[in-house]
Amino acid sequence: MSDISASEYIDQQNALEDEAREVMPWSPNQCTYIDGGLRQPVFSCLTCGEIGVCYSCSIQCHADCELVELFTKRGFTCDCGTERQTAKKNVNSAYWCQLRKNTTQDIASTSNTYGPNYKGYFCDCHKQYDPDTDSTMIQCTLGLECNEDWYHCSCILRTQNLKNEEEQERGEKIQLDPTDQIPINFPKLDSFEAFLCWKCVSRYKSVFRDLLAHPRSQDLIAHKVPHKDYLEVTNAVESNADTSTDDNLRKRKFDYDEDDVDQAFSVMLSPGYKNLLQDLRSEIEKSSKIYVFLMDIAPFLAEDDPTYEPPNDSDDDTSTYELGTQALWPNVDKDLAAAGLKAMDGIKQKLSEFLRPFAESKQVVKEEDIRHFFKLQNEENRQ
Ligand SMILES: [Zn+2]
Ligand SMILES: [Zn+2]
Ligand SMILES: [Zn+2]
Ligand SMILES: [Zn+2]
Ligand SMILES: [Zn+2]
Repeated sequence: MSDISASEYIDQQNALEDEAREVMPWSPNQCTYIDGGLRQPVFSCLTCGEIGVCYSCSIQCHADCELVELFTKRGFTCDCGTERQTAKKNVNSAYWCQLRKNTTQDIASTSNTYGPNYKGYFCDCHKQYDPDTDSTMIQCTLGLECNEDWYHCSCILRTQNLKNEEEQERGEKIQLDPTDQIPINFPKLDSFEAFLCWKCVSRYKSVFRDLLAHPRSQDLIAHKVPHKDYLEVTNAVESNADTSTDDNLRKRKFDYDEDDVDQAFSVMLSPGYKNLLQDLRSEIEKSSKIYVFLMDIAPFLAEDDPTYEPPNDSDDDTSTYELGTQALWPNVDKDLAAAGLKAMDGIKQKLSEFLRPFAESKQVVKEEDIRHFFKLQNEENRQ
């Protein structure tokens, strides 16, 4: 860091803060265990027995564990510090969960469900998620069979895991749409709002058959996508590559034998599908399969289904300085950022006071000034 003015320093802090908010958007101070089953961001802790922990516990109780981010799961209760946790994280701490401060293990939820995601595996191809190399993945909104799994778009189209190396190699060469990074014969991502995987649809096959036969399905169902043999799809793409942007072609490629009742398919629901399902539910016969499904089995499809978000602290006007440490540690990783945030809580006020005279007199803040400030803080913390 070269010498900069205080206002430049603050601008830099704001940019760093925006970046950090993407990684850690909320203040991690409340465990959601007491709220019971919530639709919330969940992290699987492989170290503590493949348990699911809430956002705050992932930072405050499991920062040095091996975690997998599962994103949103419905009806999940935090497992941190419950009987499901295999061992106490910190033998020196009296507490099982650092936020709930329970000295004995709490009773674990009996309604949590666990799929392969909790072992760190995603999609039908059963792979670990790699944000740097993986193409677009989408989550199943229904989730009753697949535990709200995430799928590669190319895996949604094919029936079986690629069996041998030759096929795997072909799989890697699948043509991707340059803007969306999805297979070119896959529906445009903005043409639907919810994806229901073929596994979940197959479990309620008769309901979906009735739904597809209902006059409202025209508006409600954006796409019905066969889960068919991968090589067939590739050949279709290759022979029609020159007209791949044609929407009709897109649809035509999904045509398949309607008489083949064993053909599995996924369903994509149109934007605004919740209102359409609400209307359908209010007008349809109460004895029908569709009504029972929307009322008792998957009411969340037709109702508001908000995701719990931990409180954020964006109203805090000293937050400009909250991530000041990151200016000195630009490659700070997430765990360190968590520790940094906790530490900064205590010193951001002091940093603000420290910088004020520089800002008022338009004086240049030197790197050594900042280093000196943090050195003093570290010494104070050690005492
Ligand atoms: Zn928790
Ligand atoms: Zn852990
Ligand atoms: Zn915890
Ligand atoms: Zn996959
Ligand atoms: Zn599913």
